[in-house]
Amino acid sequence: MLEVQGIDVFYGQVQALWDVSFRVDEGELVTLVGANGAGKTTTLRALSGLLRPRTGQIRFQGEPIHTLPGHRVTDLGLAHIPEGRQLFPDMTVEENLLTGSYVSRARSARQQSLEHVYQVFPRLQERRRQLAGSLSGGEQQMLAIGRALMSRPRLLMLDEPSLGLAPILVREVFRIVQEIRDQGVTVLLVEQNVNQALTVADRAYVLENGRITLQGPGQELLGDERVRAAYLGI
Ligand code: ATP
Repeated sequence: MLEVQGIDVFYGQVQALWDVSFRVDEGELVTLVGANGAGKTTTLRALSGLLRPRTGQIRFQGEPIHTLPGHRVTDLGLAHIPEGRQLFPDMTVEENLLTGSYVSRARSARQQSLEHVYQVFPRLQERRRQLAGSLSGGEQQMLAIGRALMSRPRLLMLDEPSLGLAPILVREVFRIVQEIRDQGVTVLLVEQNVNQALTVADRAYVLENGRITLQGPGQELLGDERVRAAYLGI
């Protein structure tokens, strides 16, 4: 479904990604893990058309997307939930959700999508008239995921959804990410929480200093000596 081939990405003169290649197949939950500054967010920005790779290719459902502007990429069904969520704090929960459904492919199914999101997140339904800015951190993360689902994505990309959440909510977020995959949405999960991300992922890639250094099934990498030493403190 998504194929990234040898991309180099720069911020001005500064290179952030070197020859990064990976793929996400339809129906998979793939995770990209790595430490602070490894290049995870940069990779997602390149995928969603916010940064242009200097070399290499990105294909989505066979079509090259690395030359398209961001809104065209969204129209094709890639939804990117940025780090920090970027909700509208002065709008209600429901208004925030509805802003997710304005891409052309999702507009006609708005009501149905809203019901689906409330089914996945009953808490959001209870709070649908509440201002987004008054939600707890965990609820805001749920809202950000819910808003992305409103765009009926084919591929959902999440940037560190567990950041800043209490452990019990972290587990809840990972459970929901798996549930979304089980419902047929392909997921690319970017995470610093290596342990949890590898536990839920079908396949995983490790990003270090802008390069992919390891890859394999999530469970296999969990047992890898190098991963255990570098990321799990074992
Ligand atoms: P984090 O978890 O801390 O967000 P990350 O893995 O997402 O880390 P990136 O944000 O992709 O890492 O950063 C990768 C590299 O690119 C870092 O060295 C960072 O300093 C650099 N970088 C990121 N954004 C910019 C920018 N706007 N201008 C210049 N360099 C940047």
